[in-house]
Amino acid sequence: MTGPTLIIENVHVAPVNGPEIESGYLRIEGDRIAEVAAGPAPEIPGATRIDGTGCLATPGLVNTHHHLYQWASQGLAQDATLFEWLVALYQVWAAMDAEVVAGAATAGLSWLALSGCTTSSDHHYIFPKGRGDLLAAEIEAARAVGLRFHPARGSMDRGESQGGLPPDDVVEELDEILTTTAEAVDAYHDPSPSSMLRVAVAPCSPFSASAELMTESAALARAKGVRLHTHLAETLDEEEHCREQFGLRPVDYMEKLGWLGPDVWFAHAVHLSDADLGKLAATGTGSAHCPSSNGRLGAGIARVSEMLRQGANVGLGVDGNASSELTPLAGEMRQALLLQRARYGPEALTARQALELATLGGARNLGREAELGTLEPGKLADLALWRIDGPFTEAKADPVCALVFGPPPPLARVLVGGRTVVADGELRTLAQDAAGRAGAEAHRRLLRLARERGVTAARQVRREDGVGA
Ligand SMILES: [Zn+2]
Repeated sequence: MTGPTLIIENVHVAPVNGPEIESGYLRIEGDRIAEVAAGPAPEIPGATRIDGTGCLATPGLVNTHHHLYQWASQGLAQDATLFEWLVALYQVWAAMDAEVVAGAATAGLSWLALSGCTTSSDHHYIFPKGRGDLLAAEIEAARAVGLRFHPARGSMDRGESQGGLPPDDVVEELDEILTTTAEAVDAYHDPSPSSMLRVAVAPCSPFSASAELMTESAALARAKGVRLHTHLAETLDEEEHCREQFGLRPVDYMEKLGWLGPDVWFAHAVHLSDADLGKLAATGTGSAHCPSSNGRLGAGIARVSEMLRQGANVGLGVDGNASSELTPLAGEMRQALLLQRARYGPEALTARQALELATLGGARNLGREAELGTLEPGKLADLALWRIDGPFTEAKADPVCALVFGPPPPLARVLVGGRTVVADGELRTLAQDAAGRAGAEAHRRLLRLARERGVTAARQVRREDGVGA
């Protein structure tokens, strides 16, 4: 006996790695799954029982790309390209402080929990001086919400004067980045199998991080035994930048810097050549597919269907709320399915493949496939219980189809390590309304701090061609 026993019974189980069970049960002991089986659950004295009638049990969803602070800067630069959007927002983000991050992360992580997410990464890459401990603020928010958290300590050292995209005053010095990143790993990274918190090393992108920062970050991550993350091949503008500045396509540039391998996952990976795709598959390099963000910024449609056929790992990401505008993680399964089918036809991605991207694919991106991403004995008890018997969903004969093809169904329960985080559609770890208000307050605070620095947050960017005036 390793802890209290919890039984979820009379439930349709989609374990992701094996056959589905139409009516069965899950037995959870402490923070682990002990049994997944068909038929009625046994009587176990002292066990807590949850009736899953009308529900679908899946592994908890894993979010593998995000920028939580961006909750505070939604709705800006609405019709911009990625580079225009970034240039419009860098100076707004430079005004953030730990209070903004705390509020944004509390709202953002609560929102994720309310869409079936049990583990989230976060890529935080702007650290304005004298604004408090931003990483500590989001880590505290994750503890309060109760999600498993993989913060990626991001960084930028290549400002405009070095040929980069961000203004010089929002980037950091290389030595300072390496020191603070190493300190973050030492302070927070927990490599244990039940870990609630693991840190990754994450220079922001080829157009904001120097080659030296990329190679030194890879050396640091590998010395510490942690993972590597960055943005890559998101837009054609980035590809052009890499060709002009480095004489290489983005994936070739990463290969040259030692950034391909099973310990690396890239955000986006939209614009891949056949050779690029082959390199990701051959090296075990993962990708976080962010369909809503790619759509919002008009970045393009990733070759997910082809990547899967070639054996490359793909997980899902909501990306920051300033580019995805409050997308629920469960909804990204549908977006992924629709975009792949729009590009390749109706057989490009099935509902079950989309569910696998959101669960096991995500767990692999984070190096947690031994502990997360499927429902099977021995794995951590991170799961989502979706209510699919509502008046508008029960007409679908297939519960996984109801989950992926339609809007996200209500959640009967979300468990993280056996602990209830959401029950009956409500957050149970924090007061839900207060968590949402914390995000709204972070938004007002960030815009006020930006105004005090003379920065106006624009709903549209101005272009010489007059578009988006
Ligand atoms: Zn991103």
